[in-house]
Amino acid sequence: MTALHLLADIWLRYKMLFKIHRGTQEIGGSCVEVWTENTRILLDLGMPLVEKDGREFDFGKYKSFSTNELIQKGILPDVEKLYSDAALLIDGFILSHAHADHFGLMNFLNPEIPVYLGEATHEILKLNNIFLGQKNQIIHPHYFEKGIPFKIGDFTITPYWADHSAFDAYSFLIEAGGKSIFYSGDFRGHGRKAGAFKWFTHNAPQNVDFLLLEGTTIGRSVKPFKTETELENEFSEVFKQPGKINLIYTSGQNIDRLTSIYRACKSTNKILVVDIYVATVLLKLSKFAGIPRPSENFTDIKVIYPYYLTGKLFANGEEAIVYQSQPYKITKQEISSQPEKMVMIVRPSMQKELELIPGIEGGNIIYSMWDGYLKKPNTIKFIEYLKNRNFTLFQIHTSGHADIETLKQMVNVIKPKYIVQIHTFNGSEYQNLFTQTVIEMKDRETRQV
Ligand SMILES: [Zn+2]
Ligand SMILES: [Zn+2]
Repeated sequence: MTALHLLADIWLRYKMLFKIHRGTQEIGGSCVEVWTENTRILLDLGMPLVEKDGREFDFGKYKSFSTNELIQKGILPDVEKLYSDAALLIDGFILSHAHADHFGLMNFLNPEIPVYLGEATHEILKLNNIFLGQKNQIIHPHYFEKGIPFKIGDFTITPYWADHSAFDAYSFLIEAGGKSIFYSGDFRGHGRKAGAFKWFTHNAPQNVDFLLLEGTTIGRSVKPFKTETELENEFSEVFKQPGKINLIYTSGQNIDRLTSIYRACKSTNKILVVDIYVATVLLKLSKFAGIPRPSENFTDIKVIYPYYLTGKLFANGEEAIVYQSQPYKITKQEISSQPEKMVMIVRPSMQKELELIPGIEGGNIIYSMWDGYLKKPNTIKFIEYLKNRNFTLFQIHTSGHADIETLKQMVNVIKPKYIVQIHTFNGSEYQNLFTQTVIEMKDRETRQV
């Protein structure tokens, strides 16, 4: 073999290609495939959030469909042998974080495919199986750690810790044969892990060929977003109103937000009441970070046991979860006897419990999630119920995603050759925002790095 042949051989072997199966025109259903001659990996396999006509996506409508039908409908990405064949074509599946728009379809994966994820992310998926009835069984988990590169065949992958509303989120540098892609995943710079983004701005990978950059907030707002610390102060201000219970509707998995709320409780001398679901999330994740949780160290966090949920845990053999928080239990009577002392995390399925707590009329209900979800029928019904009990509605929230300034910062520190739009409804606006060359790709288009 001549030197030229050898070079050609190496070039062919390491030729790196990628395809965004979904995400170039929408938020939700993220899925990226990257491959060389020898190795093929998949990043994220999310549930879509919208139908092709823009209406809310409801997987319930497709429940009876076979895998093939789901592929034909364009719901499952058409990746050969991804789902059930014994001969594997995918060498590894990499999950960026435990949000359904990134993991929601991974239960269709061939279980033999090795899954690479953060250990805390796996913990969240296990909690989802217990509390939300999901069925994500990972037979071959490989836990990666921030900053430590790992290999899958031809690829070297380096996870970067991301500041995001999900607890354990990552961006990835993917390298093979001297070429590289940086997949931003979901990130921000104004959360409780803002330090992670700041660190990134000083340690960003260089000579990146393609930056696949999320643009959730592009086209939504140009103003810088409020920080979690600012929210903490806003919560405190509301909590200071005398004589009122404060109910907060937020995600039980948004640890940044729960921490902001707990800190506001501390500064206003309130008791934080969480239900057994949120209590368990806090307890399980406290293994990975010093977060507030019902324990001897946080005696101002109490646990309420919703009747239906507790029964379900017993029925499913999860007594250990029930008993774990028992020492920190608070009863409905105790809440009812001094409502002004309580800040309670709620959600629509807890309405029945609230009906059984007298004396909380005229309190505050603070909505602390993306306002798009306020239009959901069960949210409307829940807020209406509370308004009938003379509750006042507040909205205190900040995005889990980067504002425009932060997106520009990521581009400026990486200085990629090309930017590709992903996780956005407004990909065409990238051209106007960034000085680097933007390649506006389409779903399922193959591109060579
Ligand atoms: Zn996310
Ligand atoms: Zn997302």
